[in-house]
Amino acid sequence: VEQEPLPIELQPTKNDSRKAFAVVVTRTPEIQETRFRLPVVAEEQKIMEAIHDNDIVIICGATGSGKTTQVPQFLFESGYGVPDGPTPGMIGVTQPRRVAAVSMSKRVGEEMGDYSHVVSYQIRFEGTVDSKTAIKFMTDGVLLREAAIDIALRKYSAIIIDEAHERSVNTDILIAMLSRVVKLRRELAEEDPTIKPLKLVIMSATLRVEEFTQNSNLFHTTPRIIEVEGREHSVTMHFAKKTNHDYVDEAFRKICRGHRKLPPGGMLVFMTGQGEIAQLSKRLKARFGGGMNTASTTKVRISANEAPMEVEDIDFGEVDDDRNINDRDDDDISIASDEEEDKEFEIEDEESGTGPLKMHILPLFSLLPTKEQMKVFEPPPEGHRLVILATNVAETSLTIPGIKYVFDTGRSKERKYDPVSGVQSFEIGWISKASAKQRAGRAGRTGPGHCWRLYSSAVYERDFPEFSEPELLRMPIEGVVLQLKSMNLQHVVNFPFPTPPPRESLIKAEKLLTYLNAISQTGQVTPIGSTMSIFPLSPRFARILLIGHLHDCLPYTVALVAGLSAGEIYIPENQAIPAASVQESKKNDDGSDDDEDNRGAVTFRTTEDVLADDRRAKIRAAFNAAHKNFCYLDDKSDAIKLLQVVGEFAHDPTESWCDSHFVRFKVLKEIKQLQKQLTDLLRTNIPAFANLSVPDTLDPPSQKQVQALKQMVAAGFIDQVAIRADKAPTPPEMYRKPKRAIDVPYLPLIPLEGEDGHKLELEEKLVYIHPSSPLAHLSVDECPDYIVYAYLQKAGNTGADGQKRAKTRMHALTDLTAGR
Ligand code: ADP
Ligand code: MG
Repeated sequence: VEQEPLPIELQPTKNDSRKAFAVVVTRTPEIQETRFRLPVVAEEQKIMEAIHDNDIVIICGATGSGKTTQVPQFLFESGYGVPDGPTPGMIGVTQPRRVAAVSMSKRVGEEMGDYSHVVSYQIRFEGTVDSKTAIKFMTDGVLLREAAIDIALRKYSAIIIDEAHERSVNTDILIAMLSRVVKLRRELAEEDPTIKPLKLVIMSATLRVEEFTQNSNLFHTTPRIIEVEGREHSVTMHFAKKTNHDYVDEAFRKICRGHRKLPPGGMLVFMTGQGEIAQLSKRLKARFGGGMNTASTTKVRISANEAPMEVEDIDFGEVDDDRNINDRDDDDISIASDEEEDKEFEIEDEESGTGPLKMHILPLFSLLPTKEQMKVFEPPPEGHRLVILATNVAETSLTIPGIKYVFDTGRSKERKYDPVSGVQSFEIGWISKASAKQRAGRAGRTGPGHCWRLYSSAVYERDFPEFSEPELLRMPIEGVVLQLKSMNLQHVVNFPFPTPPPRESLIKAEKLLTYLNAISQTGQVTPIGSTMSIFPLSPRFARILLIGHLHDCLPYTVALVAGLSAGEIYIPENQAIPAASVQESKKNDDGSDDDEDNRGAVTFRTTEDVLADDRRAKIRAAFNAAHKNFCYLDDKSDAIKLLQVVGEFAHDPTESWCDSHFVRFKVLKEIKQLQKQLTDLLRTNIPAFANLSVPDTLDPPSQKQVQALKQMVAAGFIDQVAIRADKAPTPPEMYRKPKRAIDVPYLPLIPLEGEDGHKLELEEKLVYIHPSSPLAHLSVDECPDYIVYAYLQKAGNTGADGQKRAKTRMHALTDLTAGR
């Protein structure tokens, strides 16, 4: 039954001279009790006084101390966000992750009882904001786009930048930009009393705030720093004696042991990506069952994946590839003896005595559907131990109730970028000491906890950096540069980045923007550039979109750039295992006595194994058929293949179609939303397209249109074209005729400065076709003369010696015929 929401009522306060008015929020006794235990609540007065007296306040406090849930409520209670109050604008709260924006707005709504309706969220394609919204949770990207429309951010009376320690690109830029907005709002307020100053609150889980406070460029006033005492329970650390490089296996073994020995309490396991999570989940389920293995949840676990990180460089045929180095049997790994290991799990606890618990295993990663993500907040079924297998998402943003034990692999998958060569890669590497501390801290929320670190203290001391590198230093920044320039910040070099990106990145970005005609030779934004900046796309894709109407291609171009800018759309074959084959557990359903862990478990083949092999062969056949079919329009172009996937999905936009075609439903739904958004933006911003309508379904493009689309893709990637080495004017000497397409060497071309052509000056390095491309299926003779690529990647793993010998591969977009 819907009740009429309470109007927000300001009441005069009696005993606080600073606060003339307050909103009285009535909360349930349980919520009150939880709140009173939070360190941030004890500091409410100090925090609000600081905000009252300073425009910029930095709050540092350990994860779980109450920053995210409480500080927005403090502001609301003292009148921020109240339409007729003294500070009427909304309270904006930014999060680097969508899952946090959604779940935190829900939590704060719950806490605020009768006022739950004033809390909303906005993420890229989804939101609940309405005229009653006073507290708005959003991703940092959403606020950045709003700032591009109104740099004074007049809709807001206060902005909270949360998780600033994560140093995401958007957060870094927001902080720098807001430092200027705060000043601007002060100036505006002095001239016009109806405009209120803006309050900026930056919240961080670590004390690493020097980049914000000691950067003389950044703030015009000295921000006030408030440190909130952590009131965390102690967490006992257990370092591994040796560092096992097969950390998935090691995690499995430790969890198995821990589960049998440890008193009740939730487990949180930090992995690096969805593939590993699926693998570990499958093994744990086979061993410990668990009550919730419904087909649908299992399927989600296996099918979704963290793109584009799961690129697996299989079948390269490089002899020196050391990816099998960790592929050993358990017995080869020298680890502590069983007794020693058991001792690790003999902890003192008043609630000792384990029952034969089952495991309630839940995955948690960003591409998982929101509905599935929210399950981690629910209590596990009776008689089950909650076991959450998570990526970095669980490191700071989310507080999951009931976690007592943390298993930390010490690794994460990170984007790397070499600004000189432009080579990007996703690598698994050690996390920082600060991250390790955050991860361990997740065990100490409800009471004393334990953290098992699957690495030795020597490795930790020697190899872990203090803090992780800001994201801005790890990616190409042409999008950032165009965005800043189109907001009239011409001299990007002078922009007060908390940590400035390397000069090479800036130069590379400006060069690319000149090729794309987005900025002039003197660095000014051109009319094309300012139109490009309207679209929530990388400048390359925006450029493609703006020439997309040629040859009646616009609906295809919209579909294509939407598809290209979404996450990884294909599910790798090795993860496309149907739910049924991972469900059965052969023994030890109750987790009892078998102490062998996994040693020697697969010594003979059962009927089930044979059936599983049979099933796998069928999956492989279906997988290959689906991919072959997607290349029906054109067998040389990743981009046209993608266009066909998007087009086919439009005809049957269902989850079952996606499952049977090995593509991700979540990503395709997003592509569809982006298509609609792009069409709307084209219609409202470009007079010639005012009557543009994009049909729900698309007929396949003609061959002429296919050729035109390839040319358009090339126009956006003019600096990323490679020529077949043997077709180069002077073929490199080492060239020998290869046997397979993926061994055919190519040479990247350098575009001619400012003009629409290529110089025949070749870069020295050789690059190769990535095996995931349709091009990899061609014969050597069929390999095209030119290939346009999205990015270069160094293949796969780093060996135990830290050396990488693999080839550089092109993530191809399309072939291109000579004589464009
Ligand atoms: P911080 O932002 O400082 O890390 P939060 O405000 O996110 O802390 O969390 C404070 C406390 O609120 C947590 O320790 C937890 O007890 C509680 N909490 C947060 N989210 C939820 C939730 N979804 N369900 C139950 N309790 C929650
Ligand atoms: Mg928080």
